[in-house]
Amino acid sequence: MLNLSVLLEDGARNRPERDAIVFGDMRLNYAVVDMIANQVANLLVSRGVRPGDRVAVACPNVPYFPFVYFGALKAGAVVVPLNVLLTPREIEYHLRDSGAKALFAFTGTPELPLGERAWKAFHEVAECEVYIDLPATAGATESAIEGAETFWAALNGQPGEFESVRTEADDTAVIIYTSGTTGRPKGAQLTHNNLLLNAVVSSDLFDHSPDDHDVFLTVLPLFHIFGQTTMMNAALYRNATMVLMPRFDGDEALSLMEQEGVTVFAGVPTMYWGLLNTRNEHDIPAIAAKLHTAVSGGASLPSEVARQVKERFGIGILEGYGLSETSPVVSFNNPKRKAKPGSIGLPVWGVEMKLVDENFTTVGGEGPGEIAVRGHCVMKGYHNRPEVNAQVIRDGWFRTGDIARRDEEGFYFIIDRSKDMIIRGGYNVYPREIEEVLMTHPQVSLAAVVGVPHDRHGEEVKAFVIRAPEATVTEEELIAWSRERLAAYKYPRLVEFRDELPMTATGKILKRELR
Ligand code: AMP
Repeated sequence: MLNLSVLLEDGARNRPERDAIVFGDMRLNYAVVDMIANQVANLLVSRGVRPGDRVAVACPNVPYFPFVYFGALKAGAVVVPLNVLLTPREIEYHLRDSGAKALFAFTGTPELPLGERAWKAFHEVAECEVYIDLPATAGATESAIEGAETFWAALNGQPGEFESVRTEADDTAVIIYTSGTTGRPKGAQLTHNNLLLNAVVSSDLFDHSPDDHDVFLTVLPLFHIFGQTTMMNAALYRNATMVLMPRFDGDEALSLMEQEGVTVFAGVPTMYWGLLNTRNEHDIPAIAAKLHTAVSGGASLPSEVARQVKERFGIGILEGYGLSETSPVVSFNNPKRKAKPGSIGLPVWGVEMKLVDENFTTVGGEGPGEIAVRGHCVMKGYHNRPEVNAQVIRDGWFRTGDIARRDEEGFYFIIDRSKDMIIRGGYNVYPREIEEVLMTHPQVSLAAVVGVPHDRHGEEVKAFVIRAPEATVTEEELIAWSRERLAAYKYPRLVEFRDELPMTATGKILKRELR
């Protein structure tokens, strides 16, 4: 079986001169990126990293991420991407749990002093032997972290050629940490086979010819599987150019789209919301003329956001569904077949979906039930968690924790995550339905609904709302608006206005924190 690094190597062979990465003023072609990745592989081998060893990388969307990712894969190592917001204690946990032998960490910025946190964690874990600082200044050989060796100093003298280690289909390529439905973060082991097929399948979902030169705006974090597969691996598979953006900002994203002629964008719904709520003027017709694909996933796309994007950019957002444990793409509204607004589409090629109950028994008809998935996208299992694996994977079927309905044509509609469901006075309330109603109010910009403890009902439905600019709508008015449109047990009794909502590094609303 091919090593996942073939995605970059093919690009270097087919289109060596084409830009693989654009980052600020920096443009790096396929040949250069592949050469640096080869140097990383040689560096790792020279430091005693062997096939199967884990290499952790804590890095935002800057060129170091693909250098280290593909360098480690070429050497046959397993990449462990870390969320850039982790505290020293959390980084330490991830290093220990994965048994990482090396850690590459971005120095960071005063606002995001990632390197300091990583360096601290590194010293707590004796088994992690190698630390390489990824300095904020390209080419810098002196680290801002005292005692740390920089990437550029370490690469010095490393040959630019390397023959990638051949891997078996079932060899783990990447371990992605996810909190899943319960407990401490668990490492989903994704194989070379999982990730290669998911990159190919997700890339083939939208029209292109081999001669097209696509430009991807890669702002979904690469340490998260959604960005990694759809905005890096699939981009490289198409020999496209990735425009890297370390932090999402609607205005900056639109400026980059205009400047670089972005053709493919994927984001979580809050990013689309950000593209609609900008401060500055942009040449929207010029952006819309280039953009041919817009994908949403990671959370339910509110229909109001989809409608406004269509209005502003003239493009229908294609919604897909997936998880860290499934590499991630499971289903998609494939424009070559049929798309249904509000649905997560049909399973992608080579993947099966069904609905199950608590006992893993198949639920027929429309459901509802919990989505279970089988096929090439499903992880090998969580790293060192045999009991959990036995609970979540049976006969190859992985249960996702997401509740859905299915229509007569086989399209799936997410109702909500089982753990976000609110039980009010014995009735199941799905926050998504209420959020949809609130967001159709002209003065509501964004809404998130959670359950809060209540003496009589067990839980009460509470909405957190960001109002549209200059809106004056009150709590009472929004409650009345919802009461007219929702059953008595569902409508929110509490509304709290906020200027912003807590979000994960990926841009999903953190319901846990709101609760
Ligand atoms: P993660 O493991 O961080 O990628 O999160 C996966 C979770 O995101 C899934 O279990 C779903 O709850 C949620 N999710 C992903 N895509 C969608 C979607 N299109 N609609 C609703 N929820 C989604």
